[in-house]
Amino acid sequence: MRVIKCRYCTCQFFSQSDYEAHLKTHWKQAKNGEGEWMPCELDSYLTERIRNSGALVLGGYRYSLIGDGKILYRTRLESAEY
Ligand SMILES: [Zn+2]
Repeated sequence: MRVIKCRYCTCQFFSQSDYEAHLKTHWKQAKNGEGEWMPCELDSYLTERIRNSGALVLGGYRYSLIGDGKILYRTRLESAEY
């Protein structure tokens, strides 16, 4: 059986849907209620890509860096809700 490893922690999953549900737990709700955030250290690959391009649109989310580039921030794109 194929095992999916979490890119943020040591958890492993046997189905894509379980993994995607788990991934959501790594993002914390922002205080303004509009977006979610996580520390940059958790995803250096994504952080590097945003540093190079300014912002990134991926899988229905728009990603950017805040807090002097130490925090990954994402907001859901309006169009993804339809
Ligand atoms: Zn994880």
